[in-house]
Amino acid sequence: MPLQHSRSRLLQQKAEAVFPGGVNSPVRAFRSVGGDPPFLTHAEGAWLYDEDGNRYLDLFGSWGPMILGHAFPPAVEAIRDAAGRSASFGASTAAETRLATLVQQCFPSVEKLRFVSSGTEACMSAIRLARGFTGRDFIIKFEGCYHGHSDAMLVKAGSGVATLGIPGSAGVPAETVMHTLALPFNNLDAVRGAFAARPDQIACVILEPIIGNAGTIPPAHGYLEGLRKITEQHGALLIIDEVMTGFRVTLGGAQRLYNIQPDLTTLGKIIGGGLPCGAFGGRADVMNCLAPLGPVYQAGTLSGNPLAMAAGIATLEHLIANEQTIYPQLDRTTQAIAQGVASIAREKEITLTTNQVGSMFTWFFTDKPVTDFASASASDTVRFGQFHRAMLDAGVWLPPSQFEAAFVSTAHSQQDVDFVLEAARKALG
Ligand SMILES: *Cc1c(COP(=O)(O)O)cnc(C)c1O
Repeated sequence: MPLQHSRSRLLQQKAEAVFPGGVNSPVRAFRSVGGDPPFLTHAEGAWLYDEDGNRYLDLFGSWGPMILGHAFPPAVEAIRDAAGRSASFGASTAAETRLATLVQQCFPSVEKLRFVSSGTEACMSAIRLARGFTGRDFIIKFEGCYHGHSDAMLVKAGSGVATLGIPGSAGVPAETVMHTLALPFNNLDAVRGAFAARPDQIACVILEPIIGNAGTIPPAHGYLEGLRKITEQHGALLIIDEVMTGFRVTLGGAQRLYNIQPDLTTLGKIIGGGLPCGAFGGRADVMNCLAPLGPVYQAGTLSGNPLAMAAGIATLEHLIANEQTIYPQLDRTTQAIAQGVASIAREKEITLTTNQVGSMFTWFFTDKPVTDFASASASDTVRFGQFHRAMLDAGVWLPPSQFEAAFVSTAHSQQDVDFVLEAARKALG
């Protein structure tokens, strides 16, 4: 029995009159999986509630931020309290330094940092800084990695760009991306080749250390170490984009998991506890090139916003205080869901490749290993769409694209695991 979505459908029609595609971010429109996107009214813990009175177990976590589940009481209280003291000052507060100190506790490579309002801004600013610091123009990124929607980064960008099956974006002049080199992930020879072809011209290498925006793709053994070595040899900066993996795969992100020291790190999602917030930071000598100390300009009216700081502090304080229990528990819950569904698929002789790192994972409808964007793209996206619709009907909300990671939160219980497995038994037919 399909769920009723009549109110959501009506709201979608009204939204389409005012927003292109009815949405304020493209993948929310469910175009690649089909079906009606439910309009949500509220959420609590691991559960989402829609306008038609349906509820869904959440496996996308607002695309990453909600690691402690929705409406986490200490975050709600902190936001309420901060709002009562004014939503914005545009002047400095102690809360900014407090959150910065917590970030540094988790990321020792971040000697200095700056807050921004989104992951896009964090990555865009880090790239500008790397170019300003090195005096070089070229940047290397990897196919299927998403670093936000700034012009220079919209080359083979994964995420919504991959979901919609478009190579980049209209409206980006060729001149803007001519310094962006997009290479295959997990392939050090491609990186060596690019540096050999352009000695002293490459400012930085930026990557998702574990790709999440082409579905979950972990780095091959030795890959990150290799990138660290090559960038060092050539005087280029290594920027690890931990907008998704930061505070997620470990408290200290992927750089702690794989023991890699980047020059710069970008953060977003969890850092703001669900409010708009991002950050970039790293080596002090590099960060000191930013205005007002240095010549690289970067600014933001709402940067370090008091509500975002309050939500971020409440979230990070809880993660830090409970690190020893939270991360092993997240691993176990995610393993039970990811591997549980994988074994149901095996029983039904459906080929599935399951990639998981900590509490992020993806079921790819393919029988081959998924190690880069090309192998992710070989998945059966039509089959994923059917699976997505059937899971939604069974009350489980997966990210609405084969090329997005699923997330588990601390609010997901053993009962919730069983609920997903039961749904998958139905959805896989
Ligand atoms: C989500 C994401 C971004 C962009 O962050 P926004 O807050 O959506 O602008 C950048 N990099 C990675 C790895 C992300 O997952």
